[in-house]
Amino acid sequence: MFVSQTFDVCVIGAGPGGYVAAIRSAQLGLNTCVIEREALGGVCLNVGCIPSKAMITAAHFLHRAQHDAPEMGFEIPGEIKVNMKKLVAWKQSVCDKMSGGVSMLLKGNKVTIINGDATFKTAQELTVKSSSGTQSVMAKSFIIATGSRPIEIPGFAFDEKNVLSSTGALALDSVPKRIAVIGGGYIGLEISSYLAKLGAEVEVIEAASGVLSGAADPECVQVVQRRLKKNGVKIHTGAKAKSYKQNGKTMEVRLEVNGKEEAIKVDKVLVTVGRRPNSDQMNLKGIGLNIDDKGFIKVNAQRRTNLPHVFAIGDIAGQPMLAHKASHEGVLVAEVIGGQNRAYDAKTVPAVIFTDPEIASAGWTEEECKAHGHKELKVGKFPFAANGRAVSMMETDGFVKIIADAKTHLVLGVHIVGPEASNLVSEAVLAVEMGATLEDLALSIHPHPTLGETMMEAAEAALGHAIHVIQRPLNRGNGSNARANP
Ligand SMILES: Cc1cc2nc3c(=O)[nH]c(=O)nc-3n(C[C@H](O)[C@H](O)[C@H](O)COP(=O)(O)OP(=O)(O)OC[C@H]3O[C@@H](n4cnc5c(N)ncnc54)[C@H](O)[C@@H]3O)c2cc1C
Repeated sequence: MFVSQTFDVCVIGAGPGGYVAAIRSAQLGLNTCVIEREALGGVCLNVGCIPSKAMITAAHFLHRAQHDAPEMGFEIPGEIKVNMKKLVAWKQSVCDKMSGGVSMLLKGNKVTIINGDATFKTAQELTVKSSSGTQSVMAKSFIIATGSRPIEIPGFAFDEKNVLSSTGALALDSVPKRIAVIGGGYIGLEISSYLAKLGAEVEVIEAASGVLSGAADPECVQVVQRRLKKNGVKIHTGAKAKSYKQNGKTMEVRLEVNGKEEAIKVDKVLVTVGRRPNSDQMNLKGIGLNIDDKGFIKVNAQRRTNLPHVFAIGDIAGQPMLAHKASHEGVLVAEVIGGQNRAYDAKTVPAVIFTDPEIASAGWTEEECKAHGHKELKVGKFPFAANGRAVSMMETDGFVKIIADAKTHLVLGVHIVGPEASNLVSEAVLAVEMGATLEDLALSIHPHPTLGETMMEAAEAALGHAIHVIQRPLNRGNGSNARANP
């Protein structure tokens, strides 16, 4: 069957970038279609953010039942067993619910959903192939939101049985006894955290001198690294995984650690060394689209490519490769196509790492503040150990750190490691976007007892007068800063 359809807007890829762009386009009265070759919701809802958080929540629940519940007075007779098949089925039900919700929203907004694999035939026409045939789709504007995929490394081709990508790791139907995780970035460490809690022996192999390097404030990383160790995760830094040899069910993984050969024995290997944009597909180069040397489609502040009727958003359009950035761009592009005067002007894209404890940040690190010309800083730090709610939750590891310009007190960066950091960071995003000062945060009444009070007290600490920690004046940089000393 050959069908030919024409739309005002054609969105390719229904991840958090694409489906959001399609909904906003339709809300603006544009005749819109979205083409998806796998599942609505993209990587995020099906094999990324949502399933990984479901597994993290479940494993945290188990860990707390095993470790915290007895201290709180609960008696749990016998061992709590993990039924991984049931757990994975529950995780899948969460993903299916979310993907079904996206379908409902698209249909409710009268977006045409086309299932199939799209390729540009010309810059004005797509060919879409599916099991039911091939069709042609034309549109006045195209939004490319086709995302990214995991990077493979030599010697470790994904077979999703022994050598897993994050997609395979999220679908494991039994807990591996021993697993090597190659790559200590956020995806590797999130999966390591929950597999360790479910009972796996996890060894992380990281080529750099530390995990999460460049992804988070180094002091925050230290807290997570300590917890990983406590939960039994072994971290090899300065280590390169070279190859593996399969001996029955066991895999012998060869490493080069600081120039020396080593080997570890595991049952599975997970490779999480990064993701690459899907820009080598769909004949993008053939239609003359400009792509940079890292494979990202080049876009301007309106996310328009060098072809004026083609836009690109989400992972394929550059860093940071995060779902909320993709969705933000989706709305923006639809509004640009709808004739509104919009451009990307966010001051900060928050980043969250859902390890235990979580790390979340908005704005700059101290180093970045200095690089941007803020030579004198005020830094306030407040520990969760001094927060009543955190103590009552038995979640006291970590702190909130606020960095501000010493003269203007403008909040430049907030870095949180601790319980609910992912939720707390939204206040920091607002502070950075609104140009809030330390006083704005310190003088806003925060409800008690909440974790949010740590934000207020970190601002007070930067001003030198937090109530719930004893402050010792400490010289930092050239500024006359008082700094909390938790
Ligand atoms: C394990 C893991 C955990 C993550 N956790 C988080 C997190 O906690 N927070 C966060 O912000 N981000 C997280 N991410 C990253 C996040 O998933 C991505 O940044 C986000 O999904 C990118 O959205 P997107 O719309 O650009 O593309 P994607 O979500 O990648 O969607 C692209 C869609 O396009 C479809 N497609 C591709 N090519 C074609 C074609 N030719 N024709 C038709 N359809 C096509 C694909 O099937 C896919 O559904 C995680 C990623 C992983 C892997």
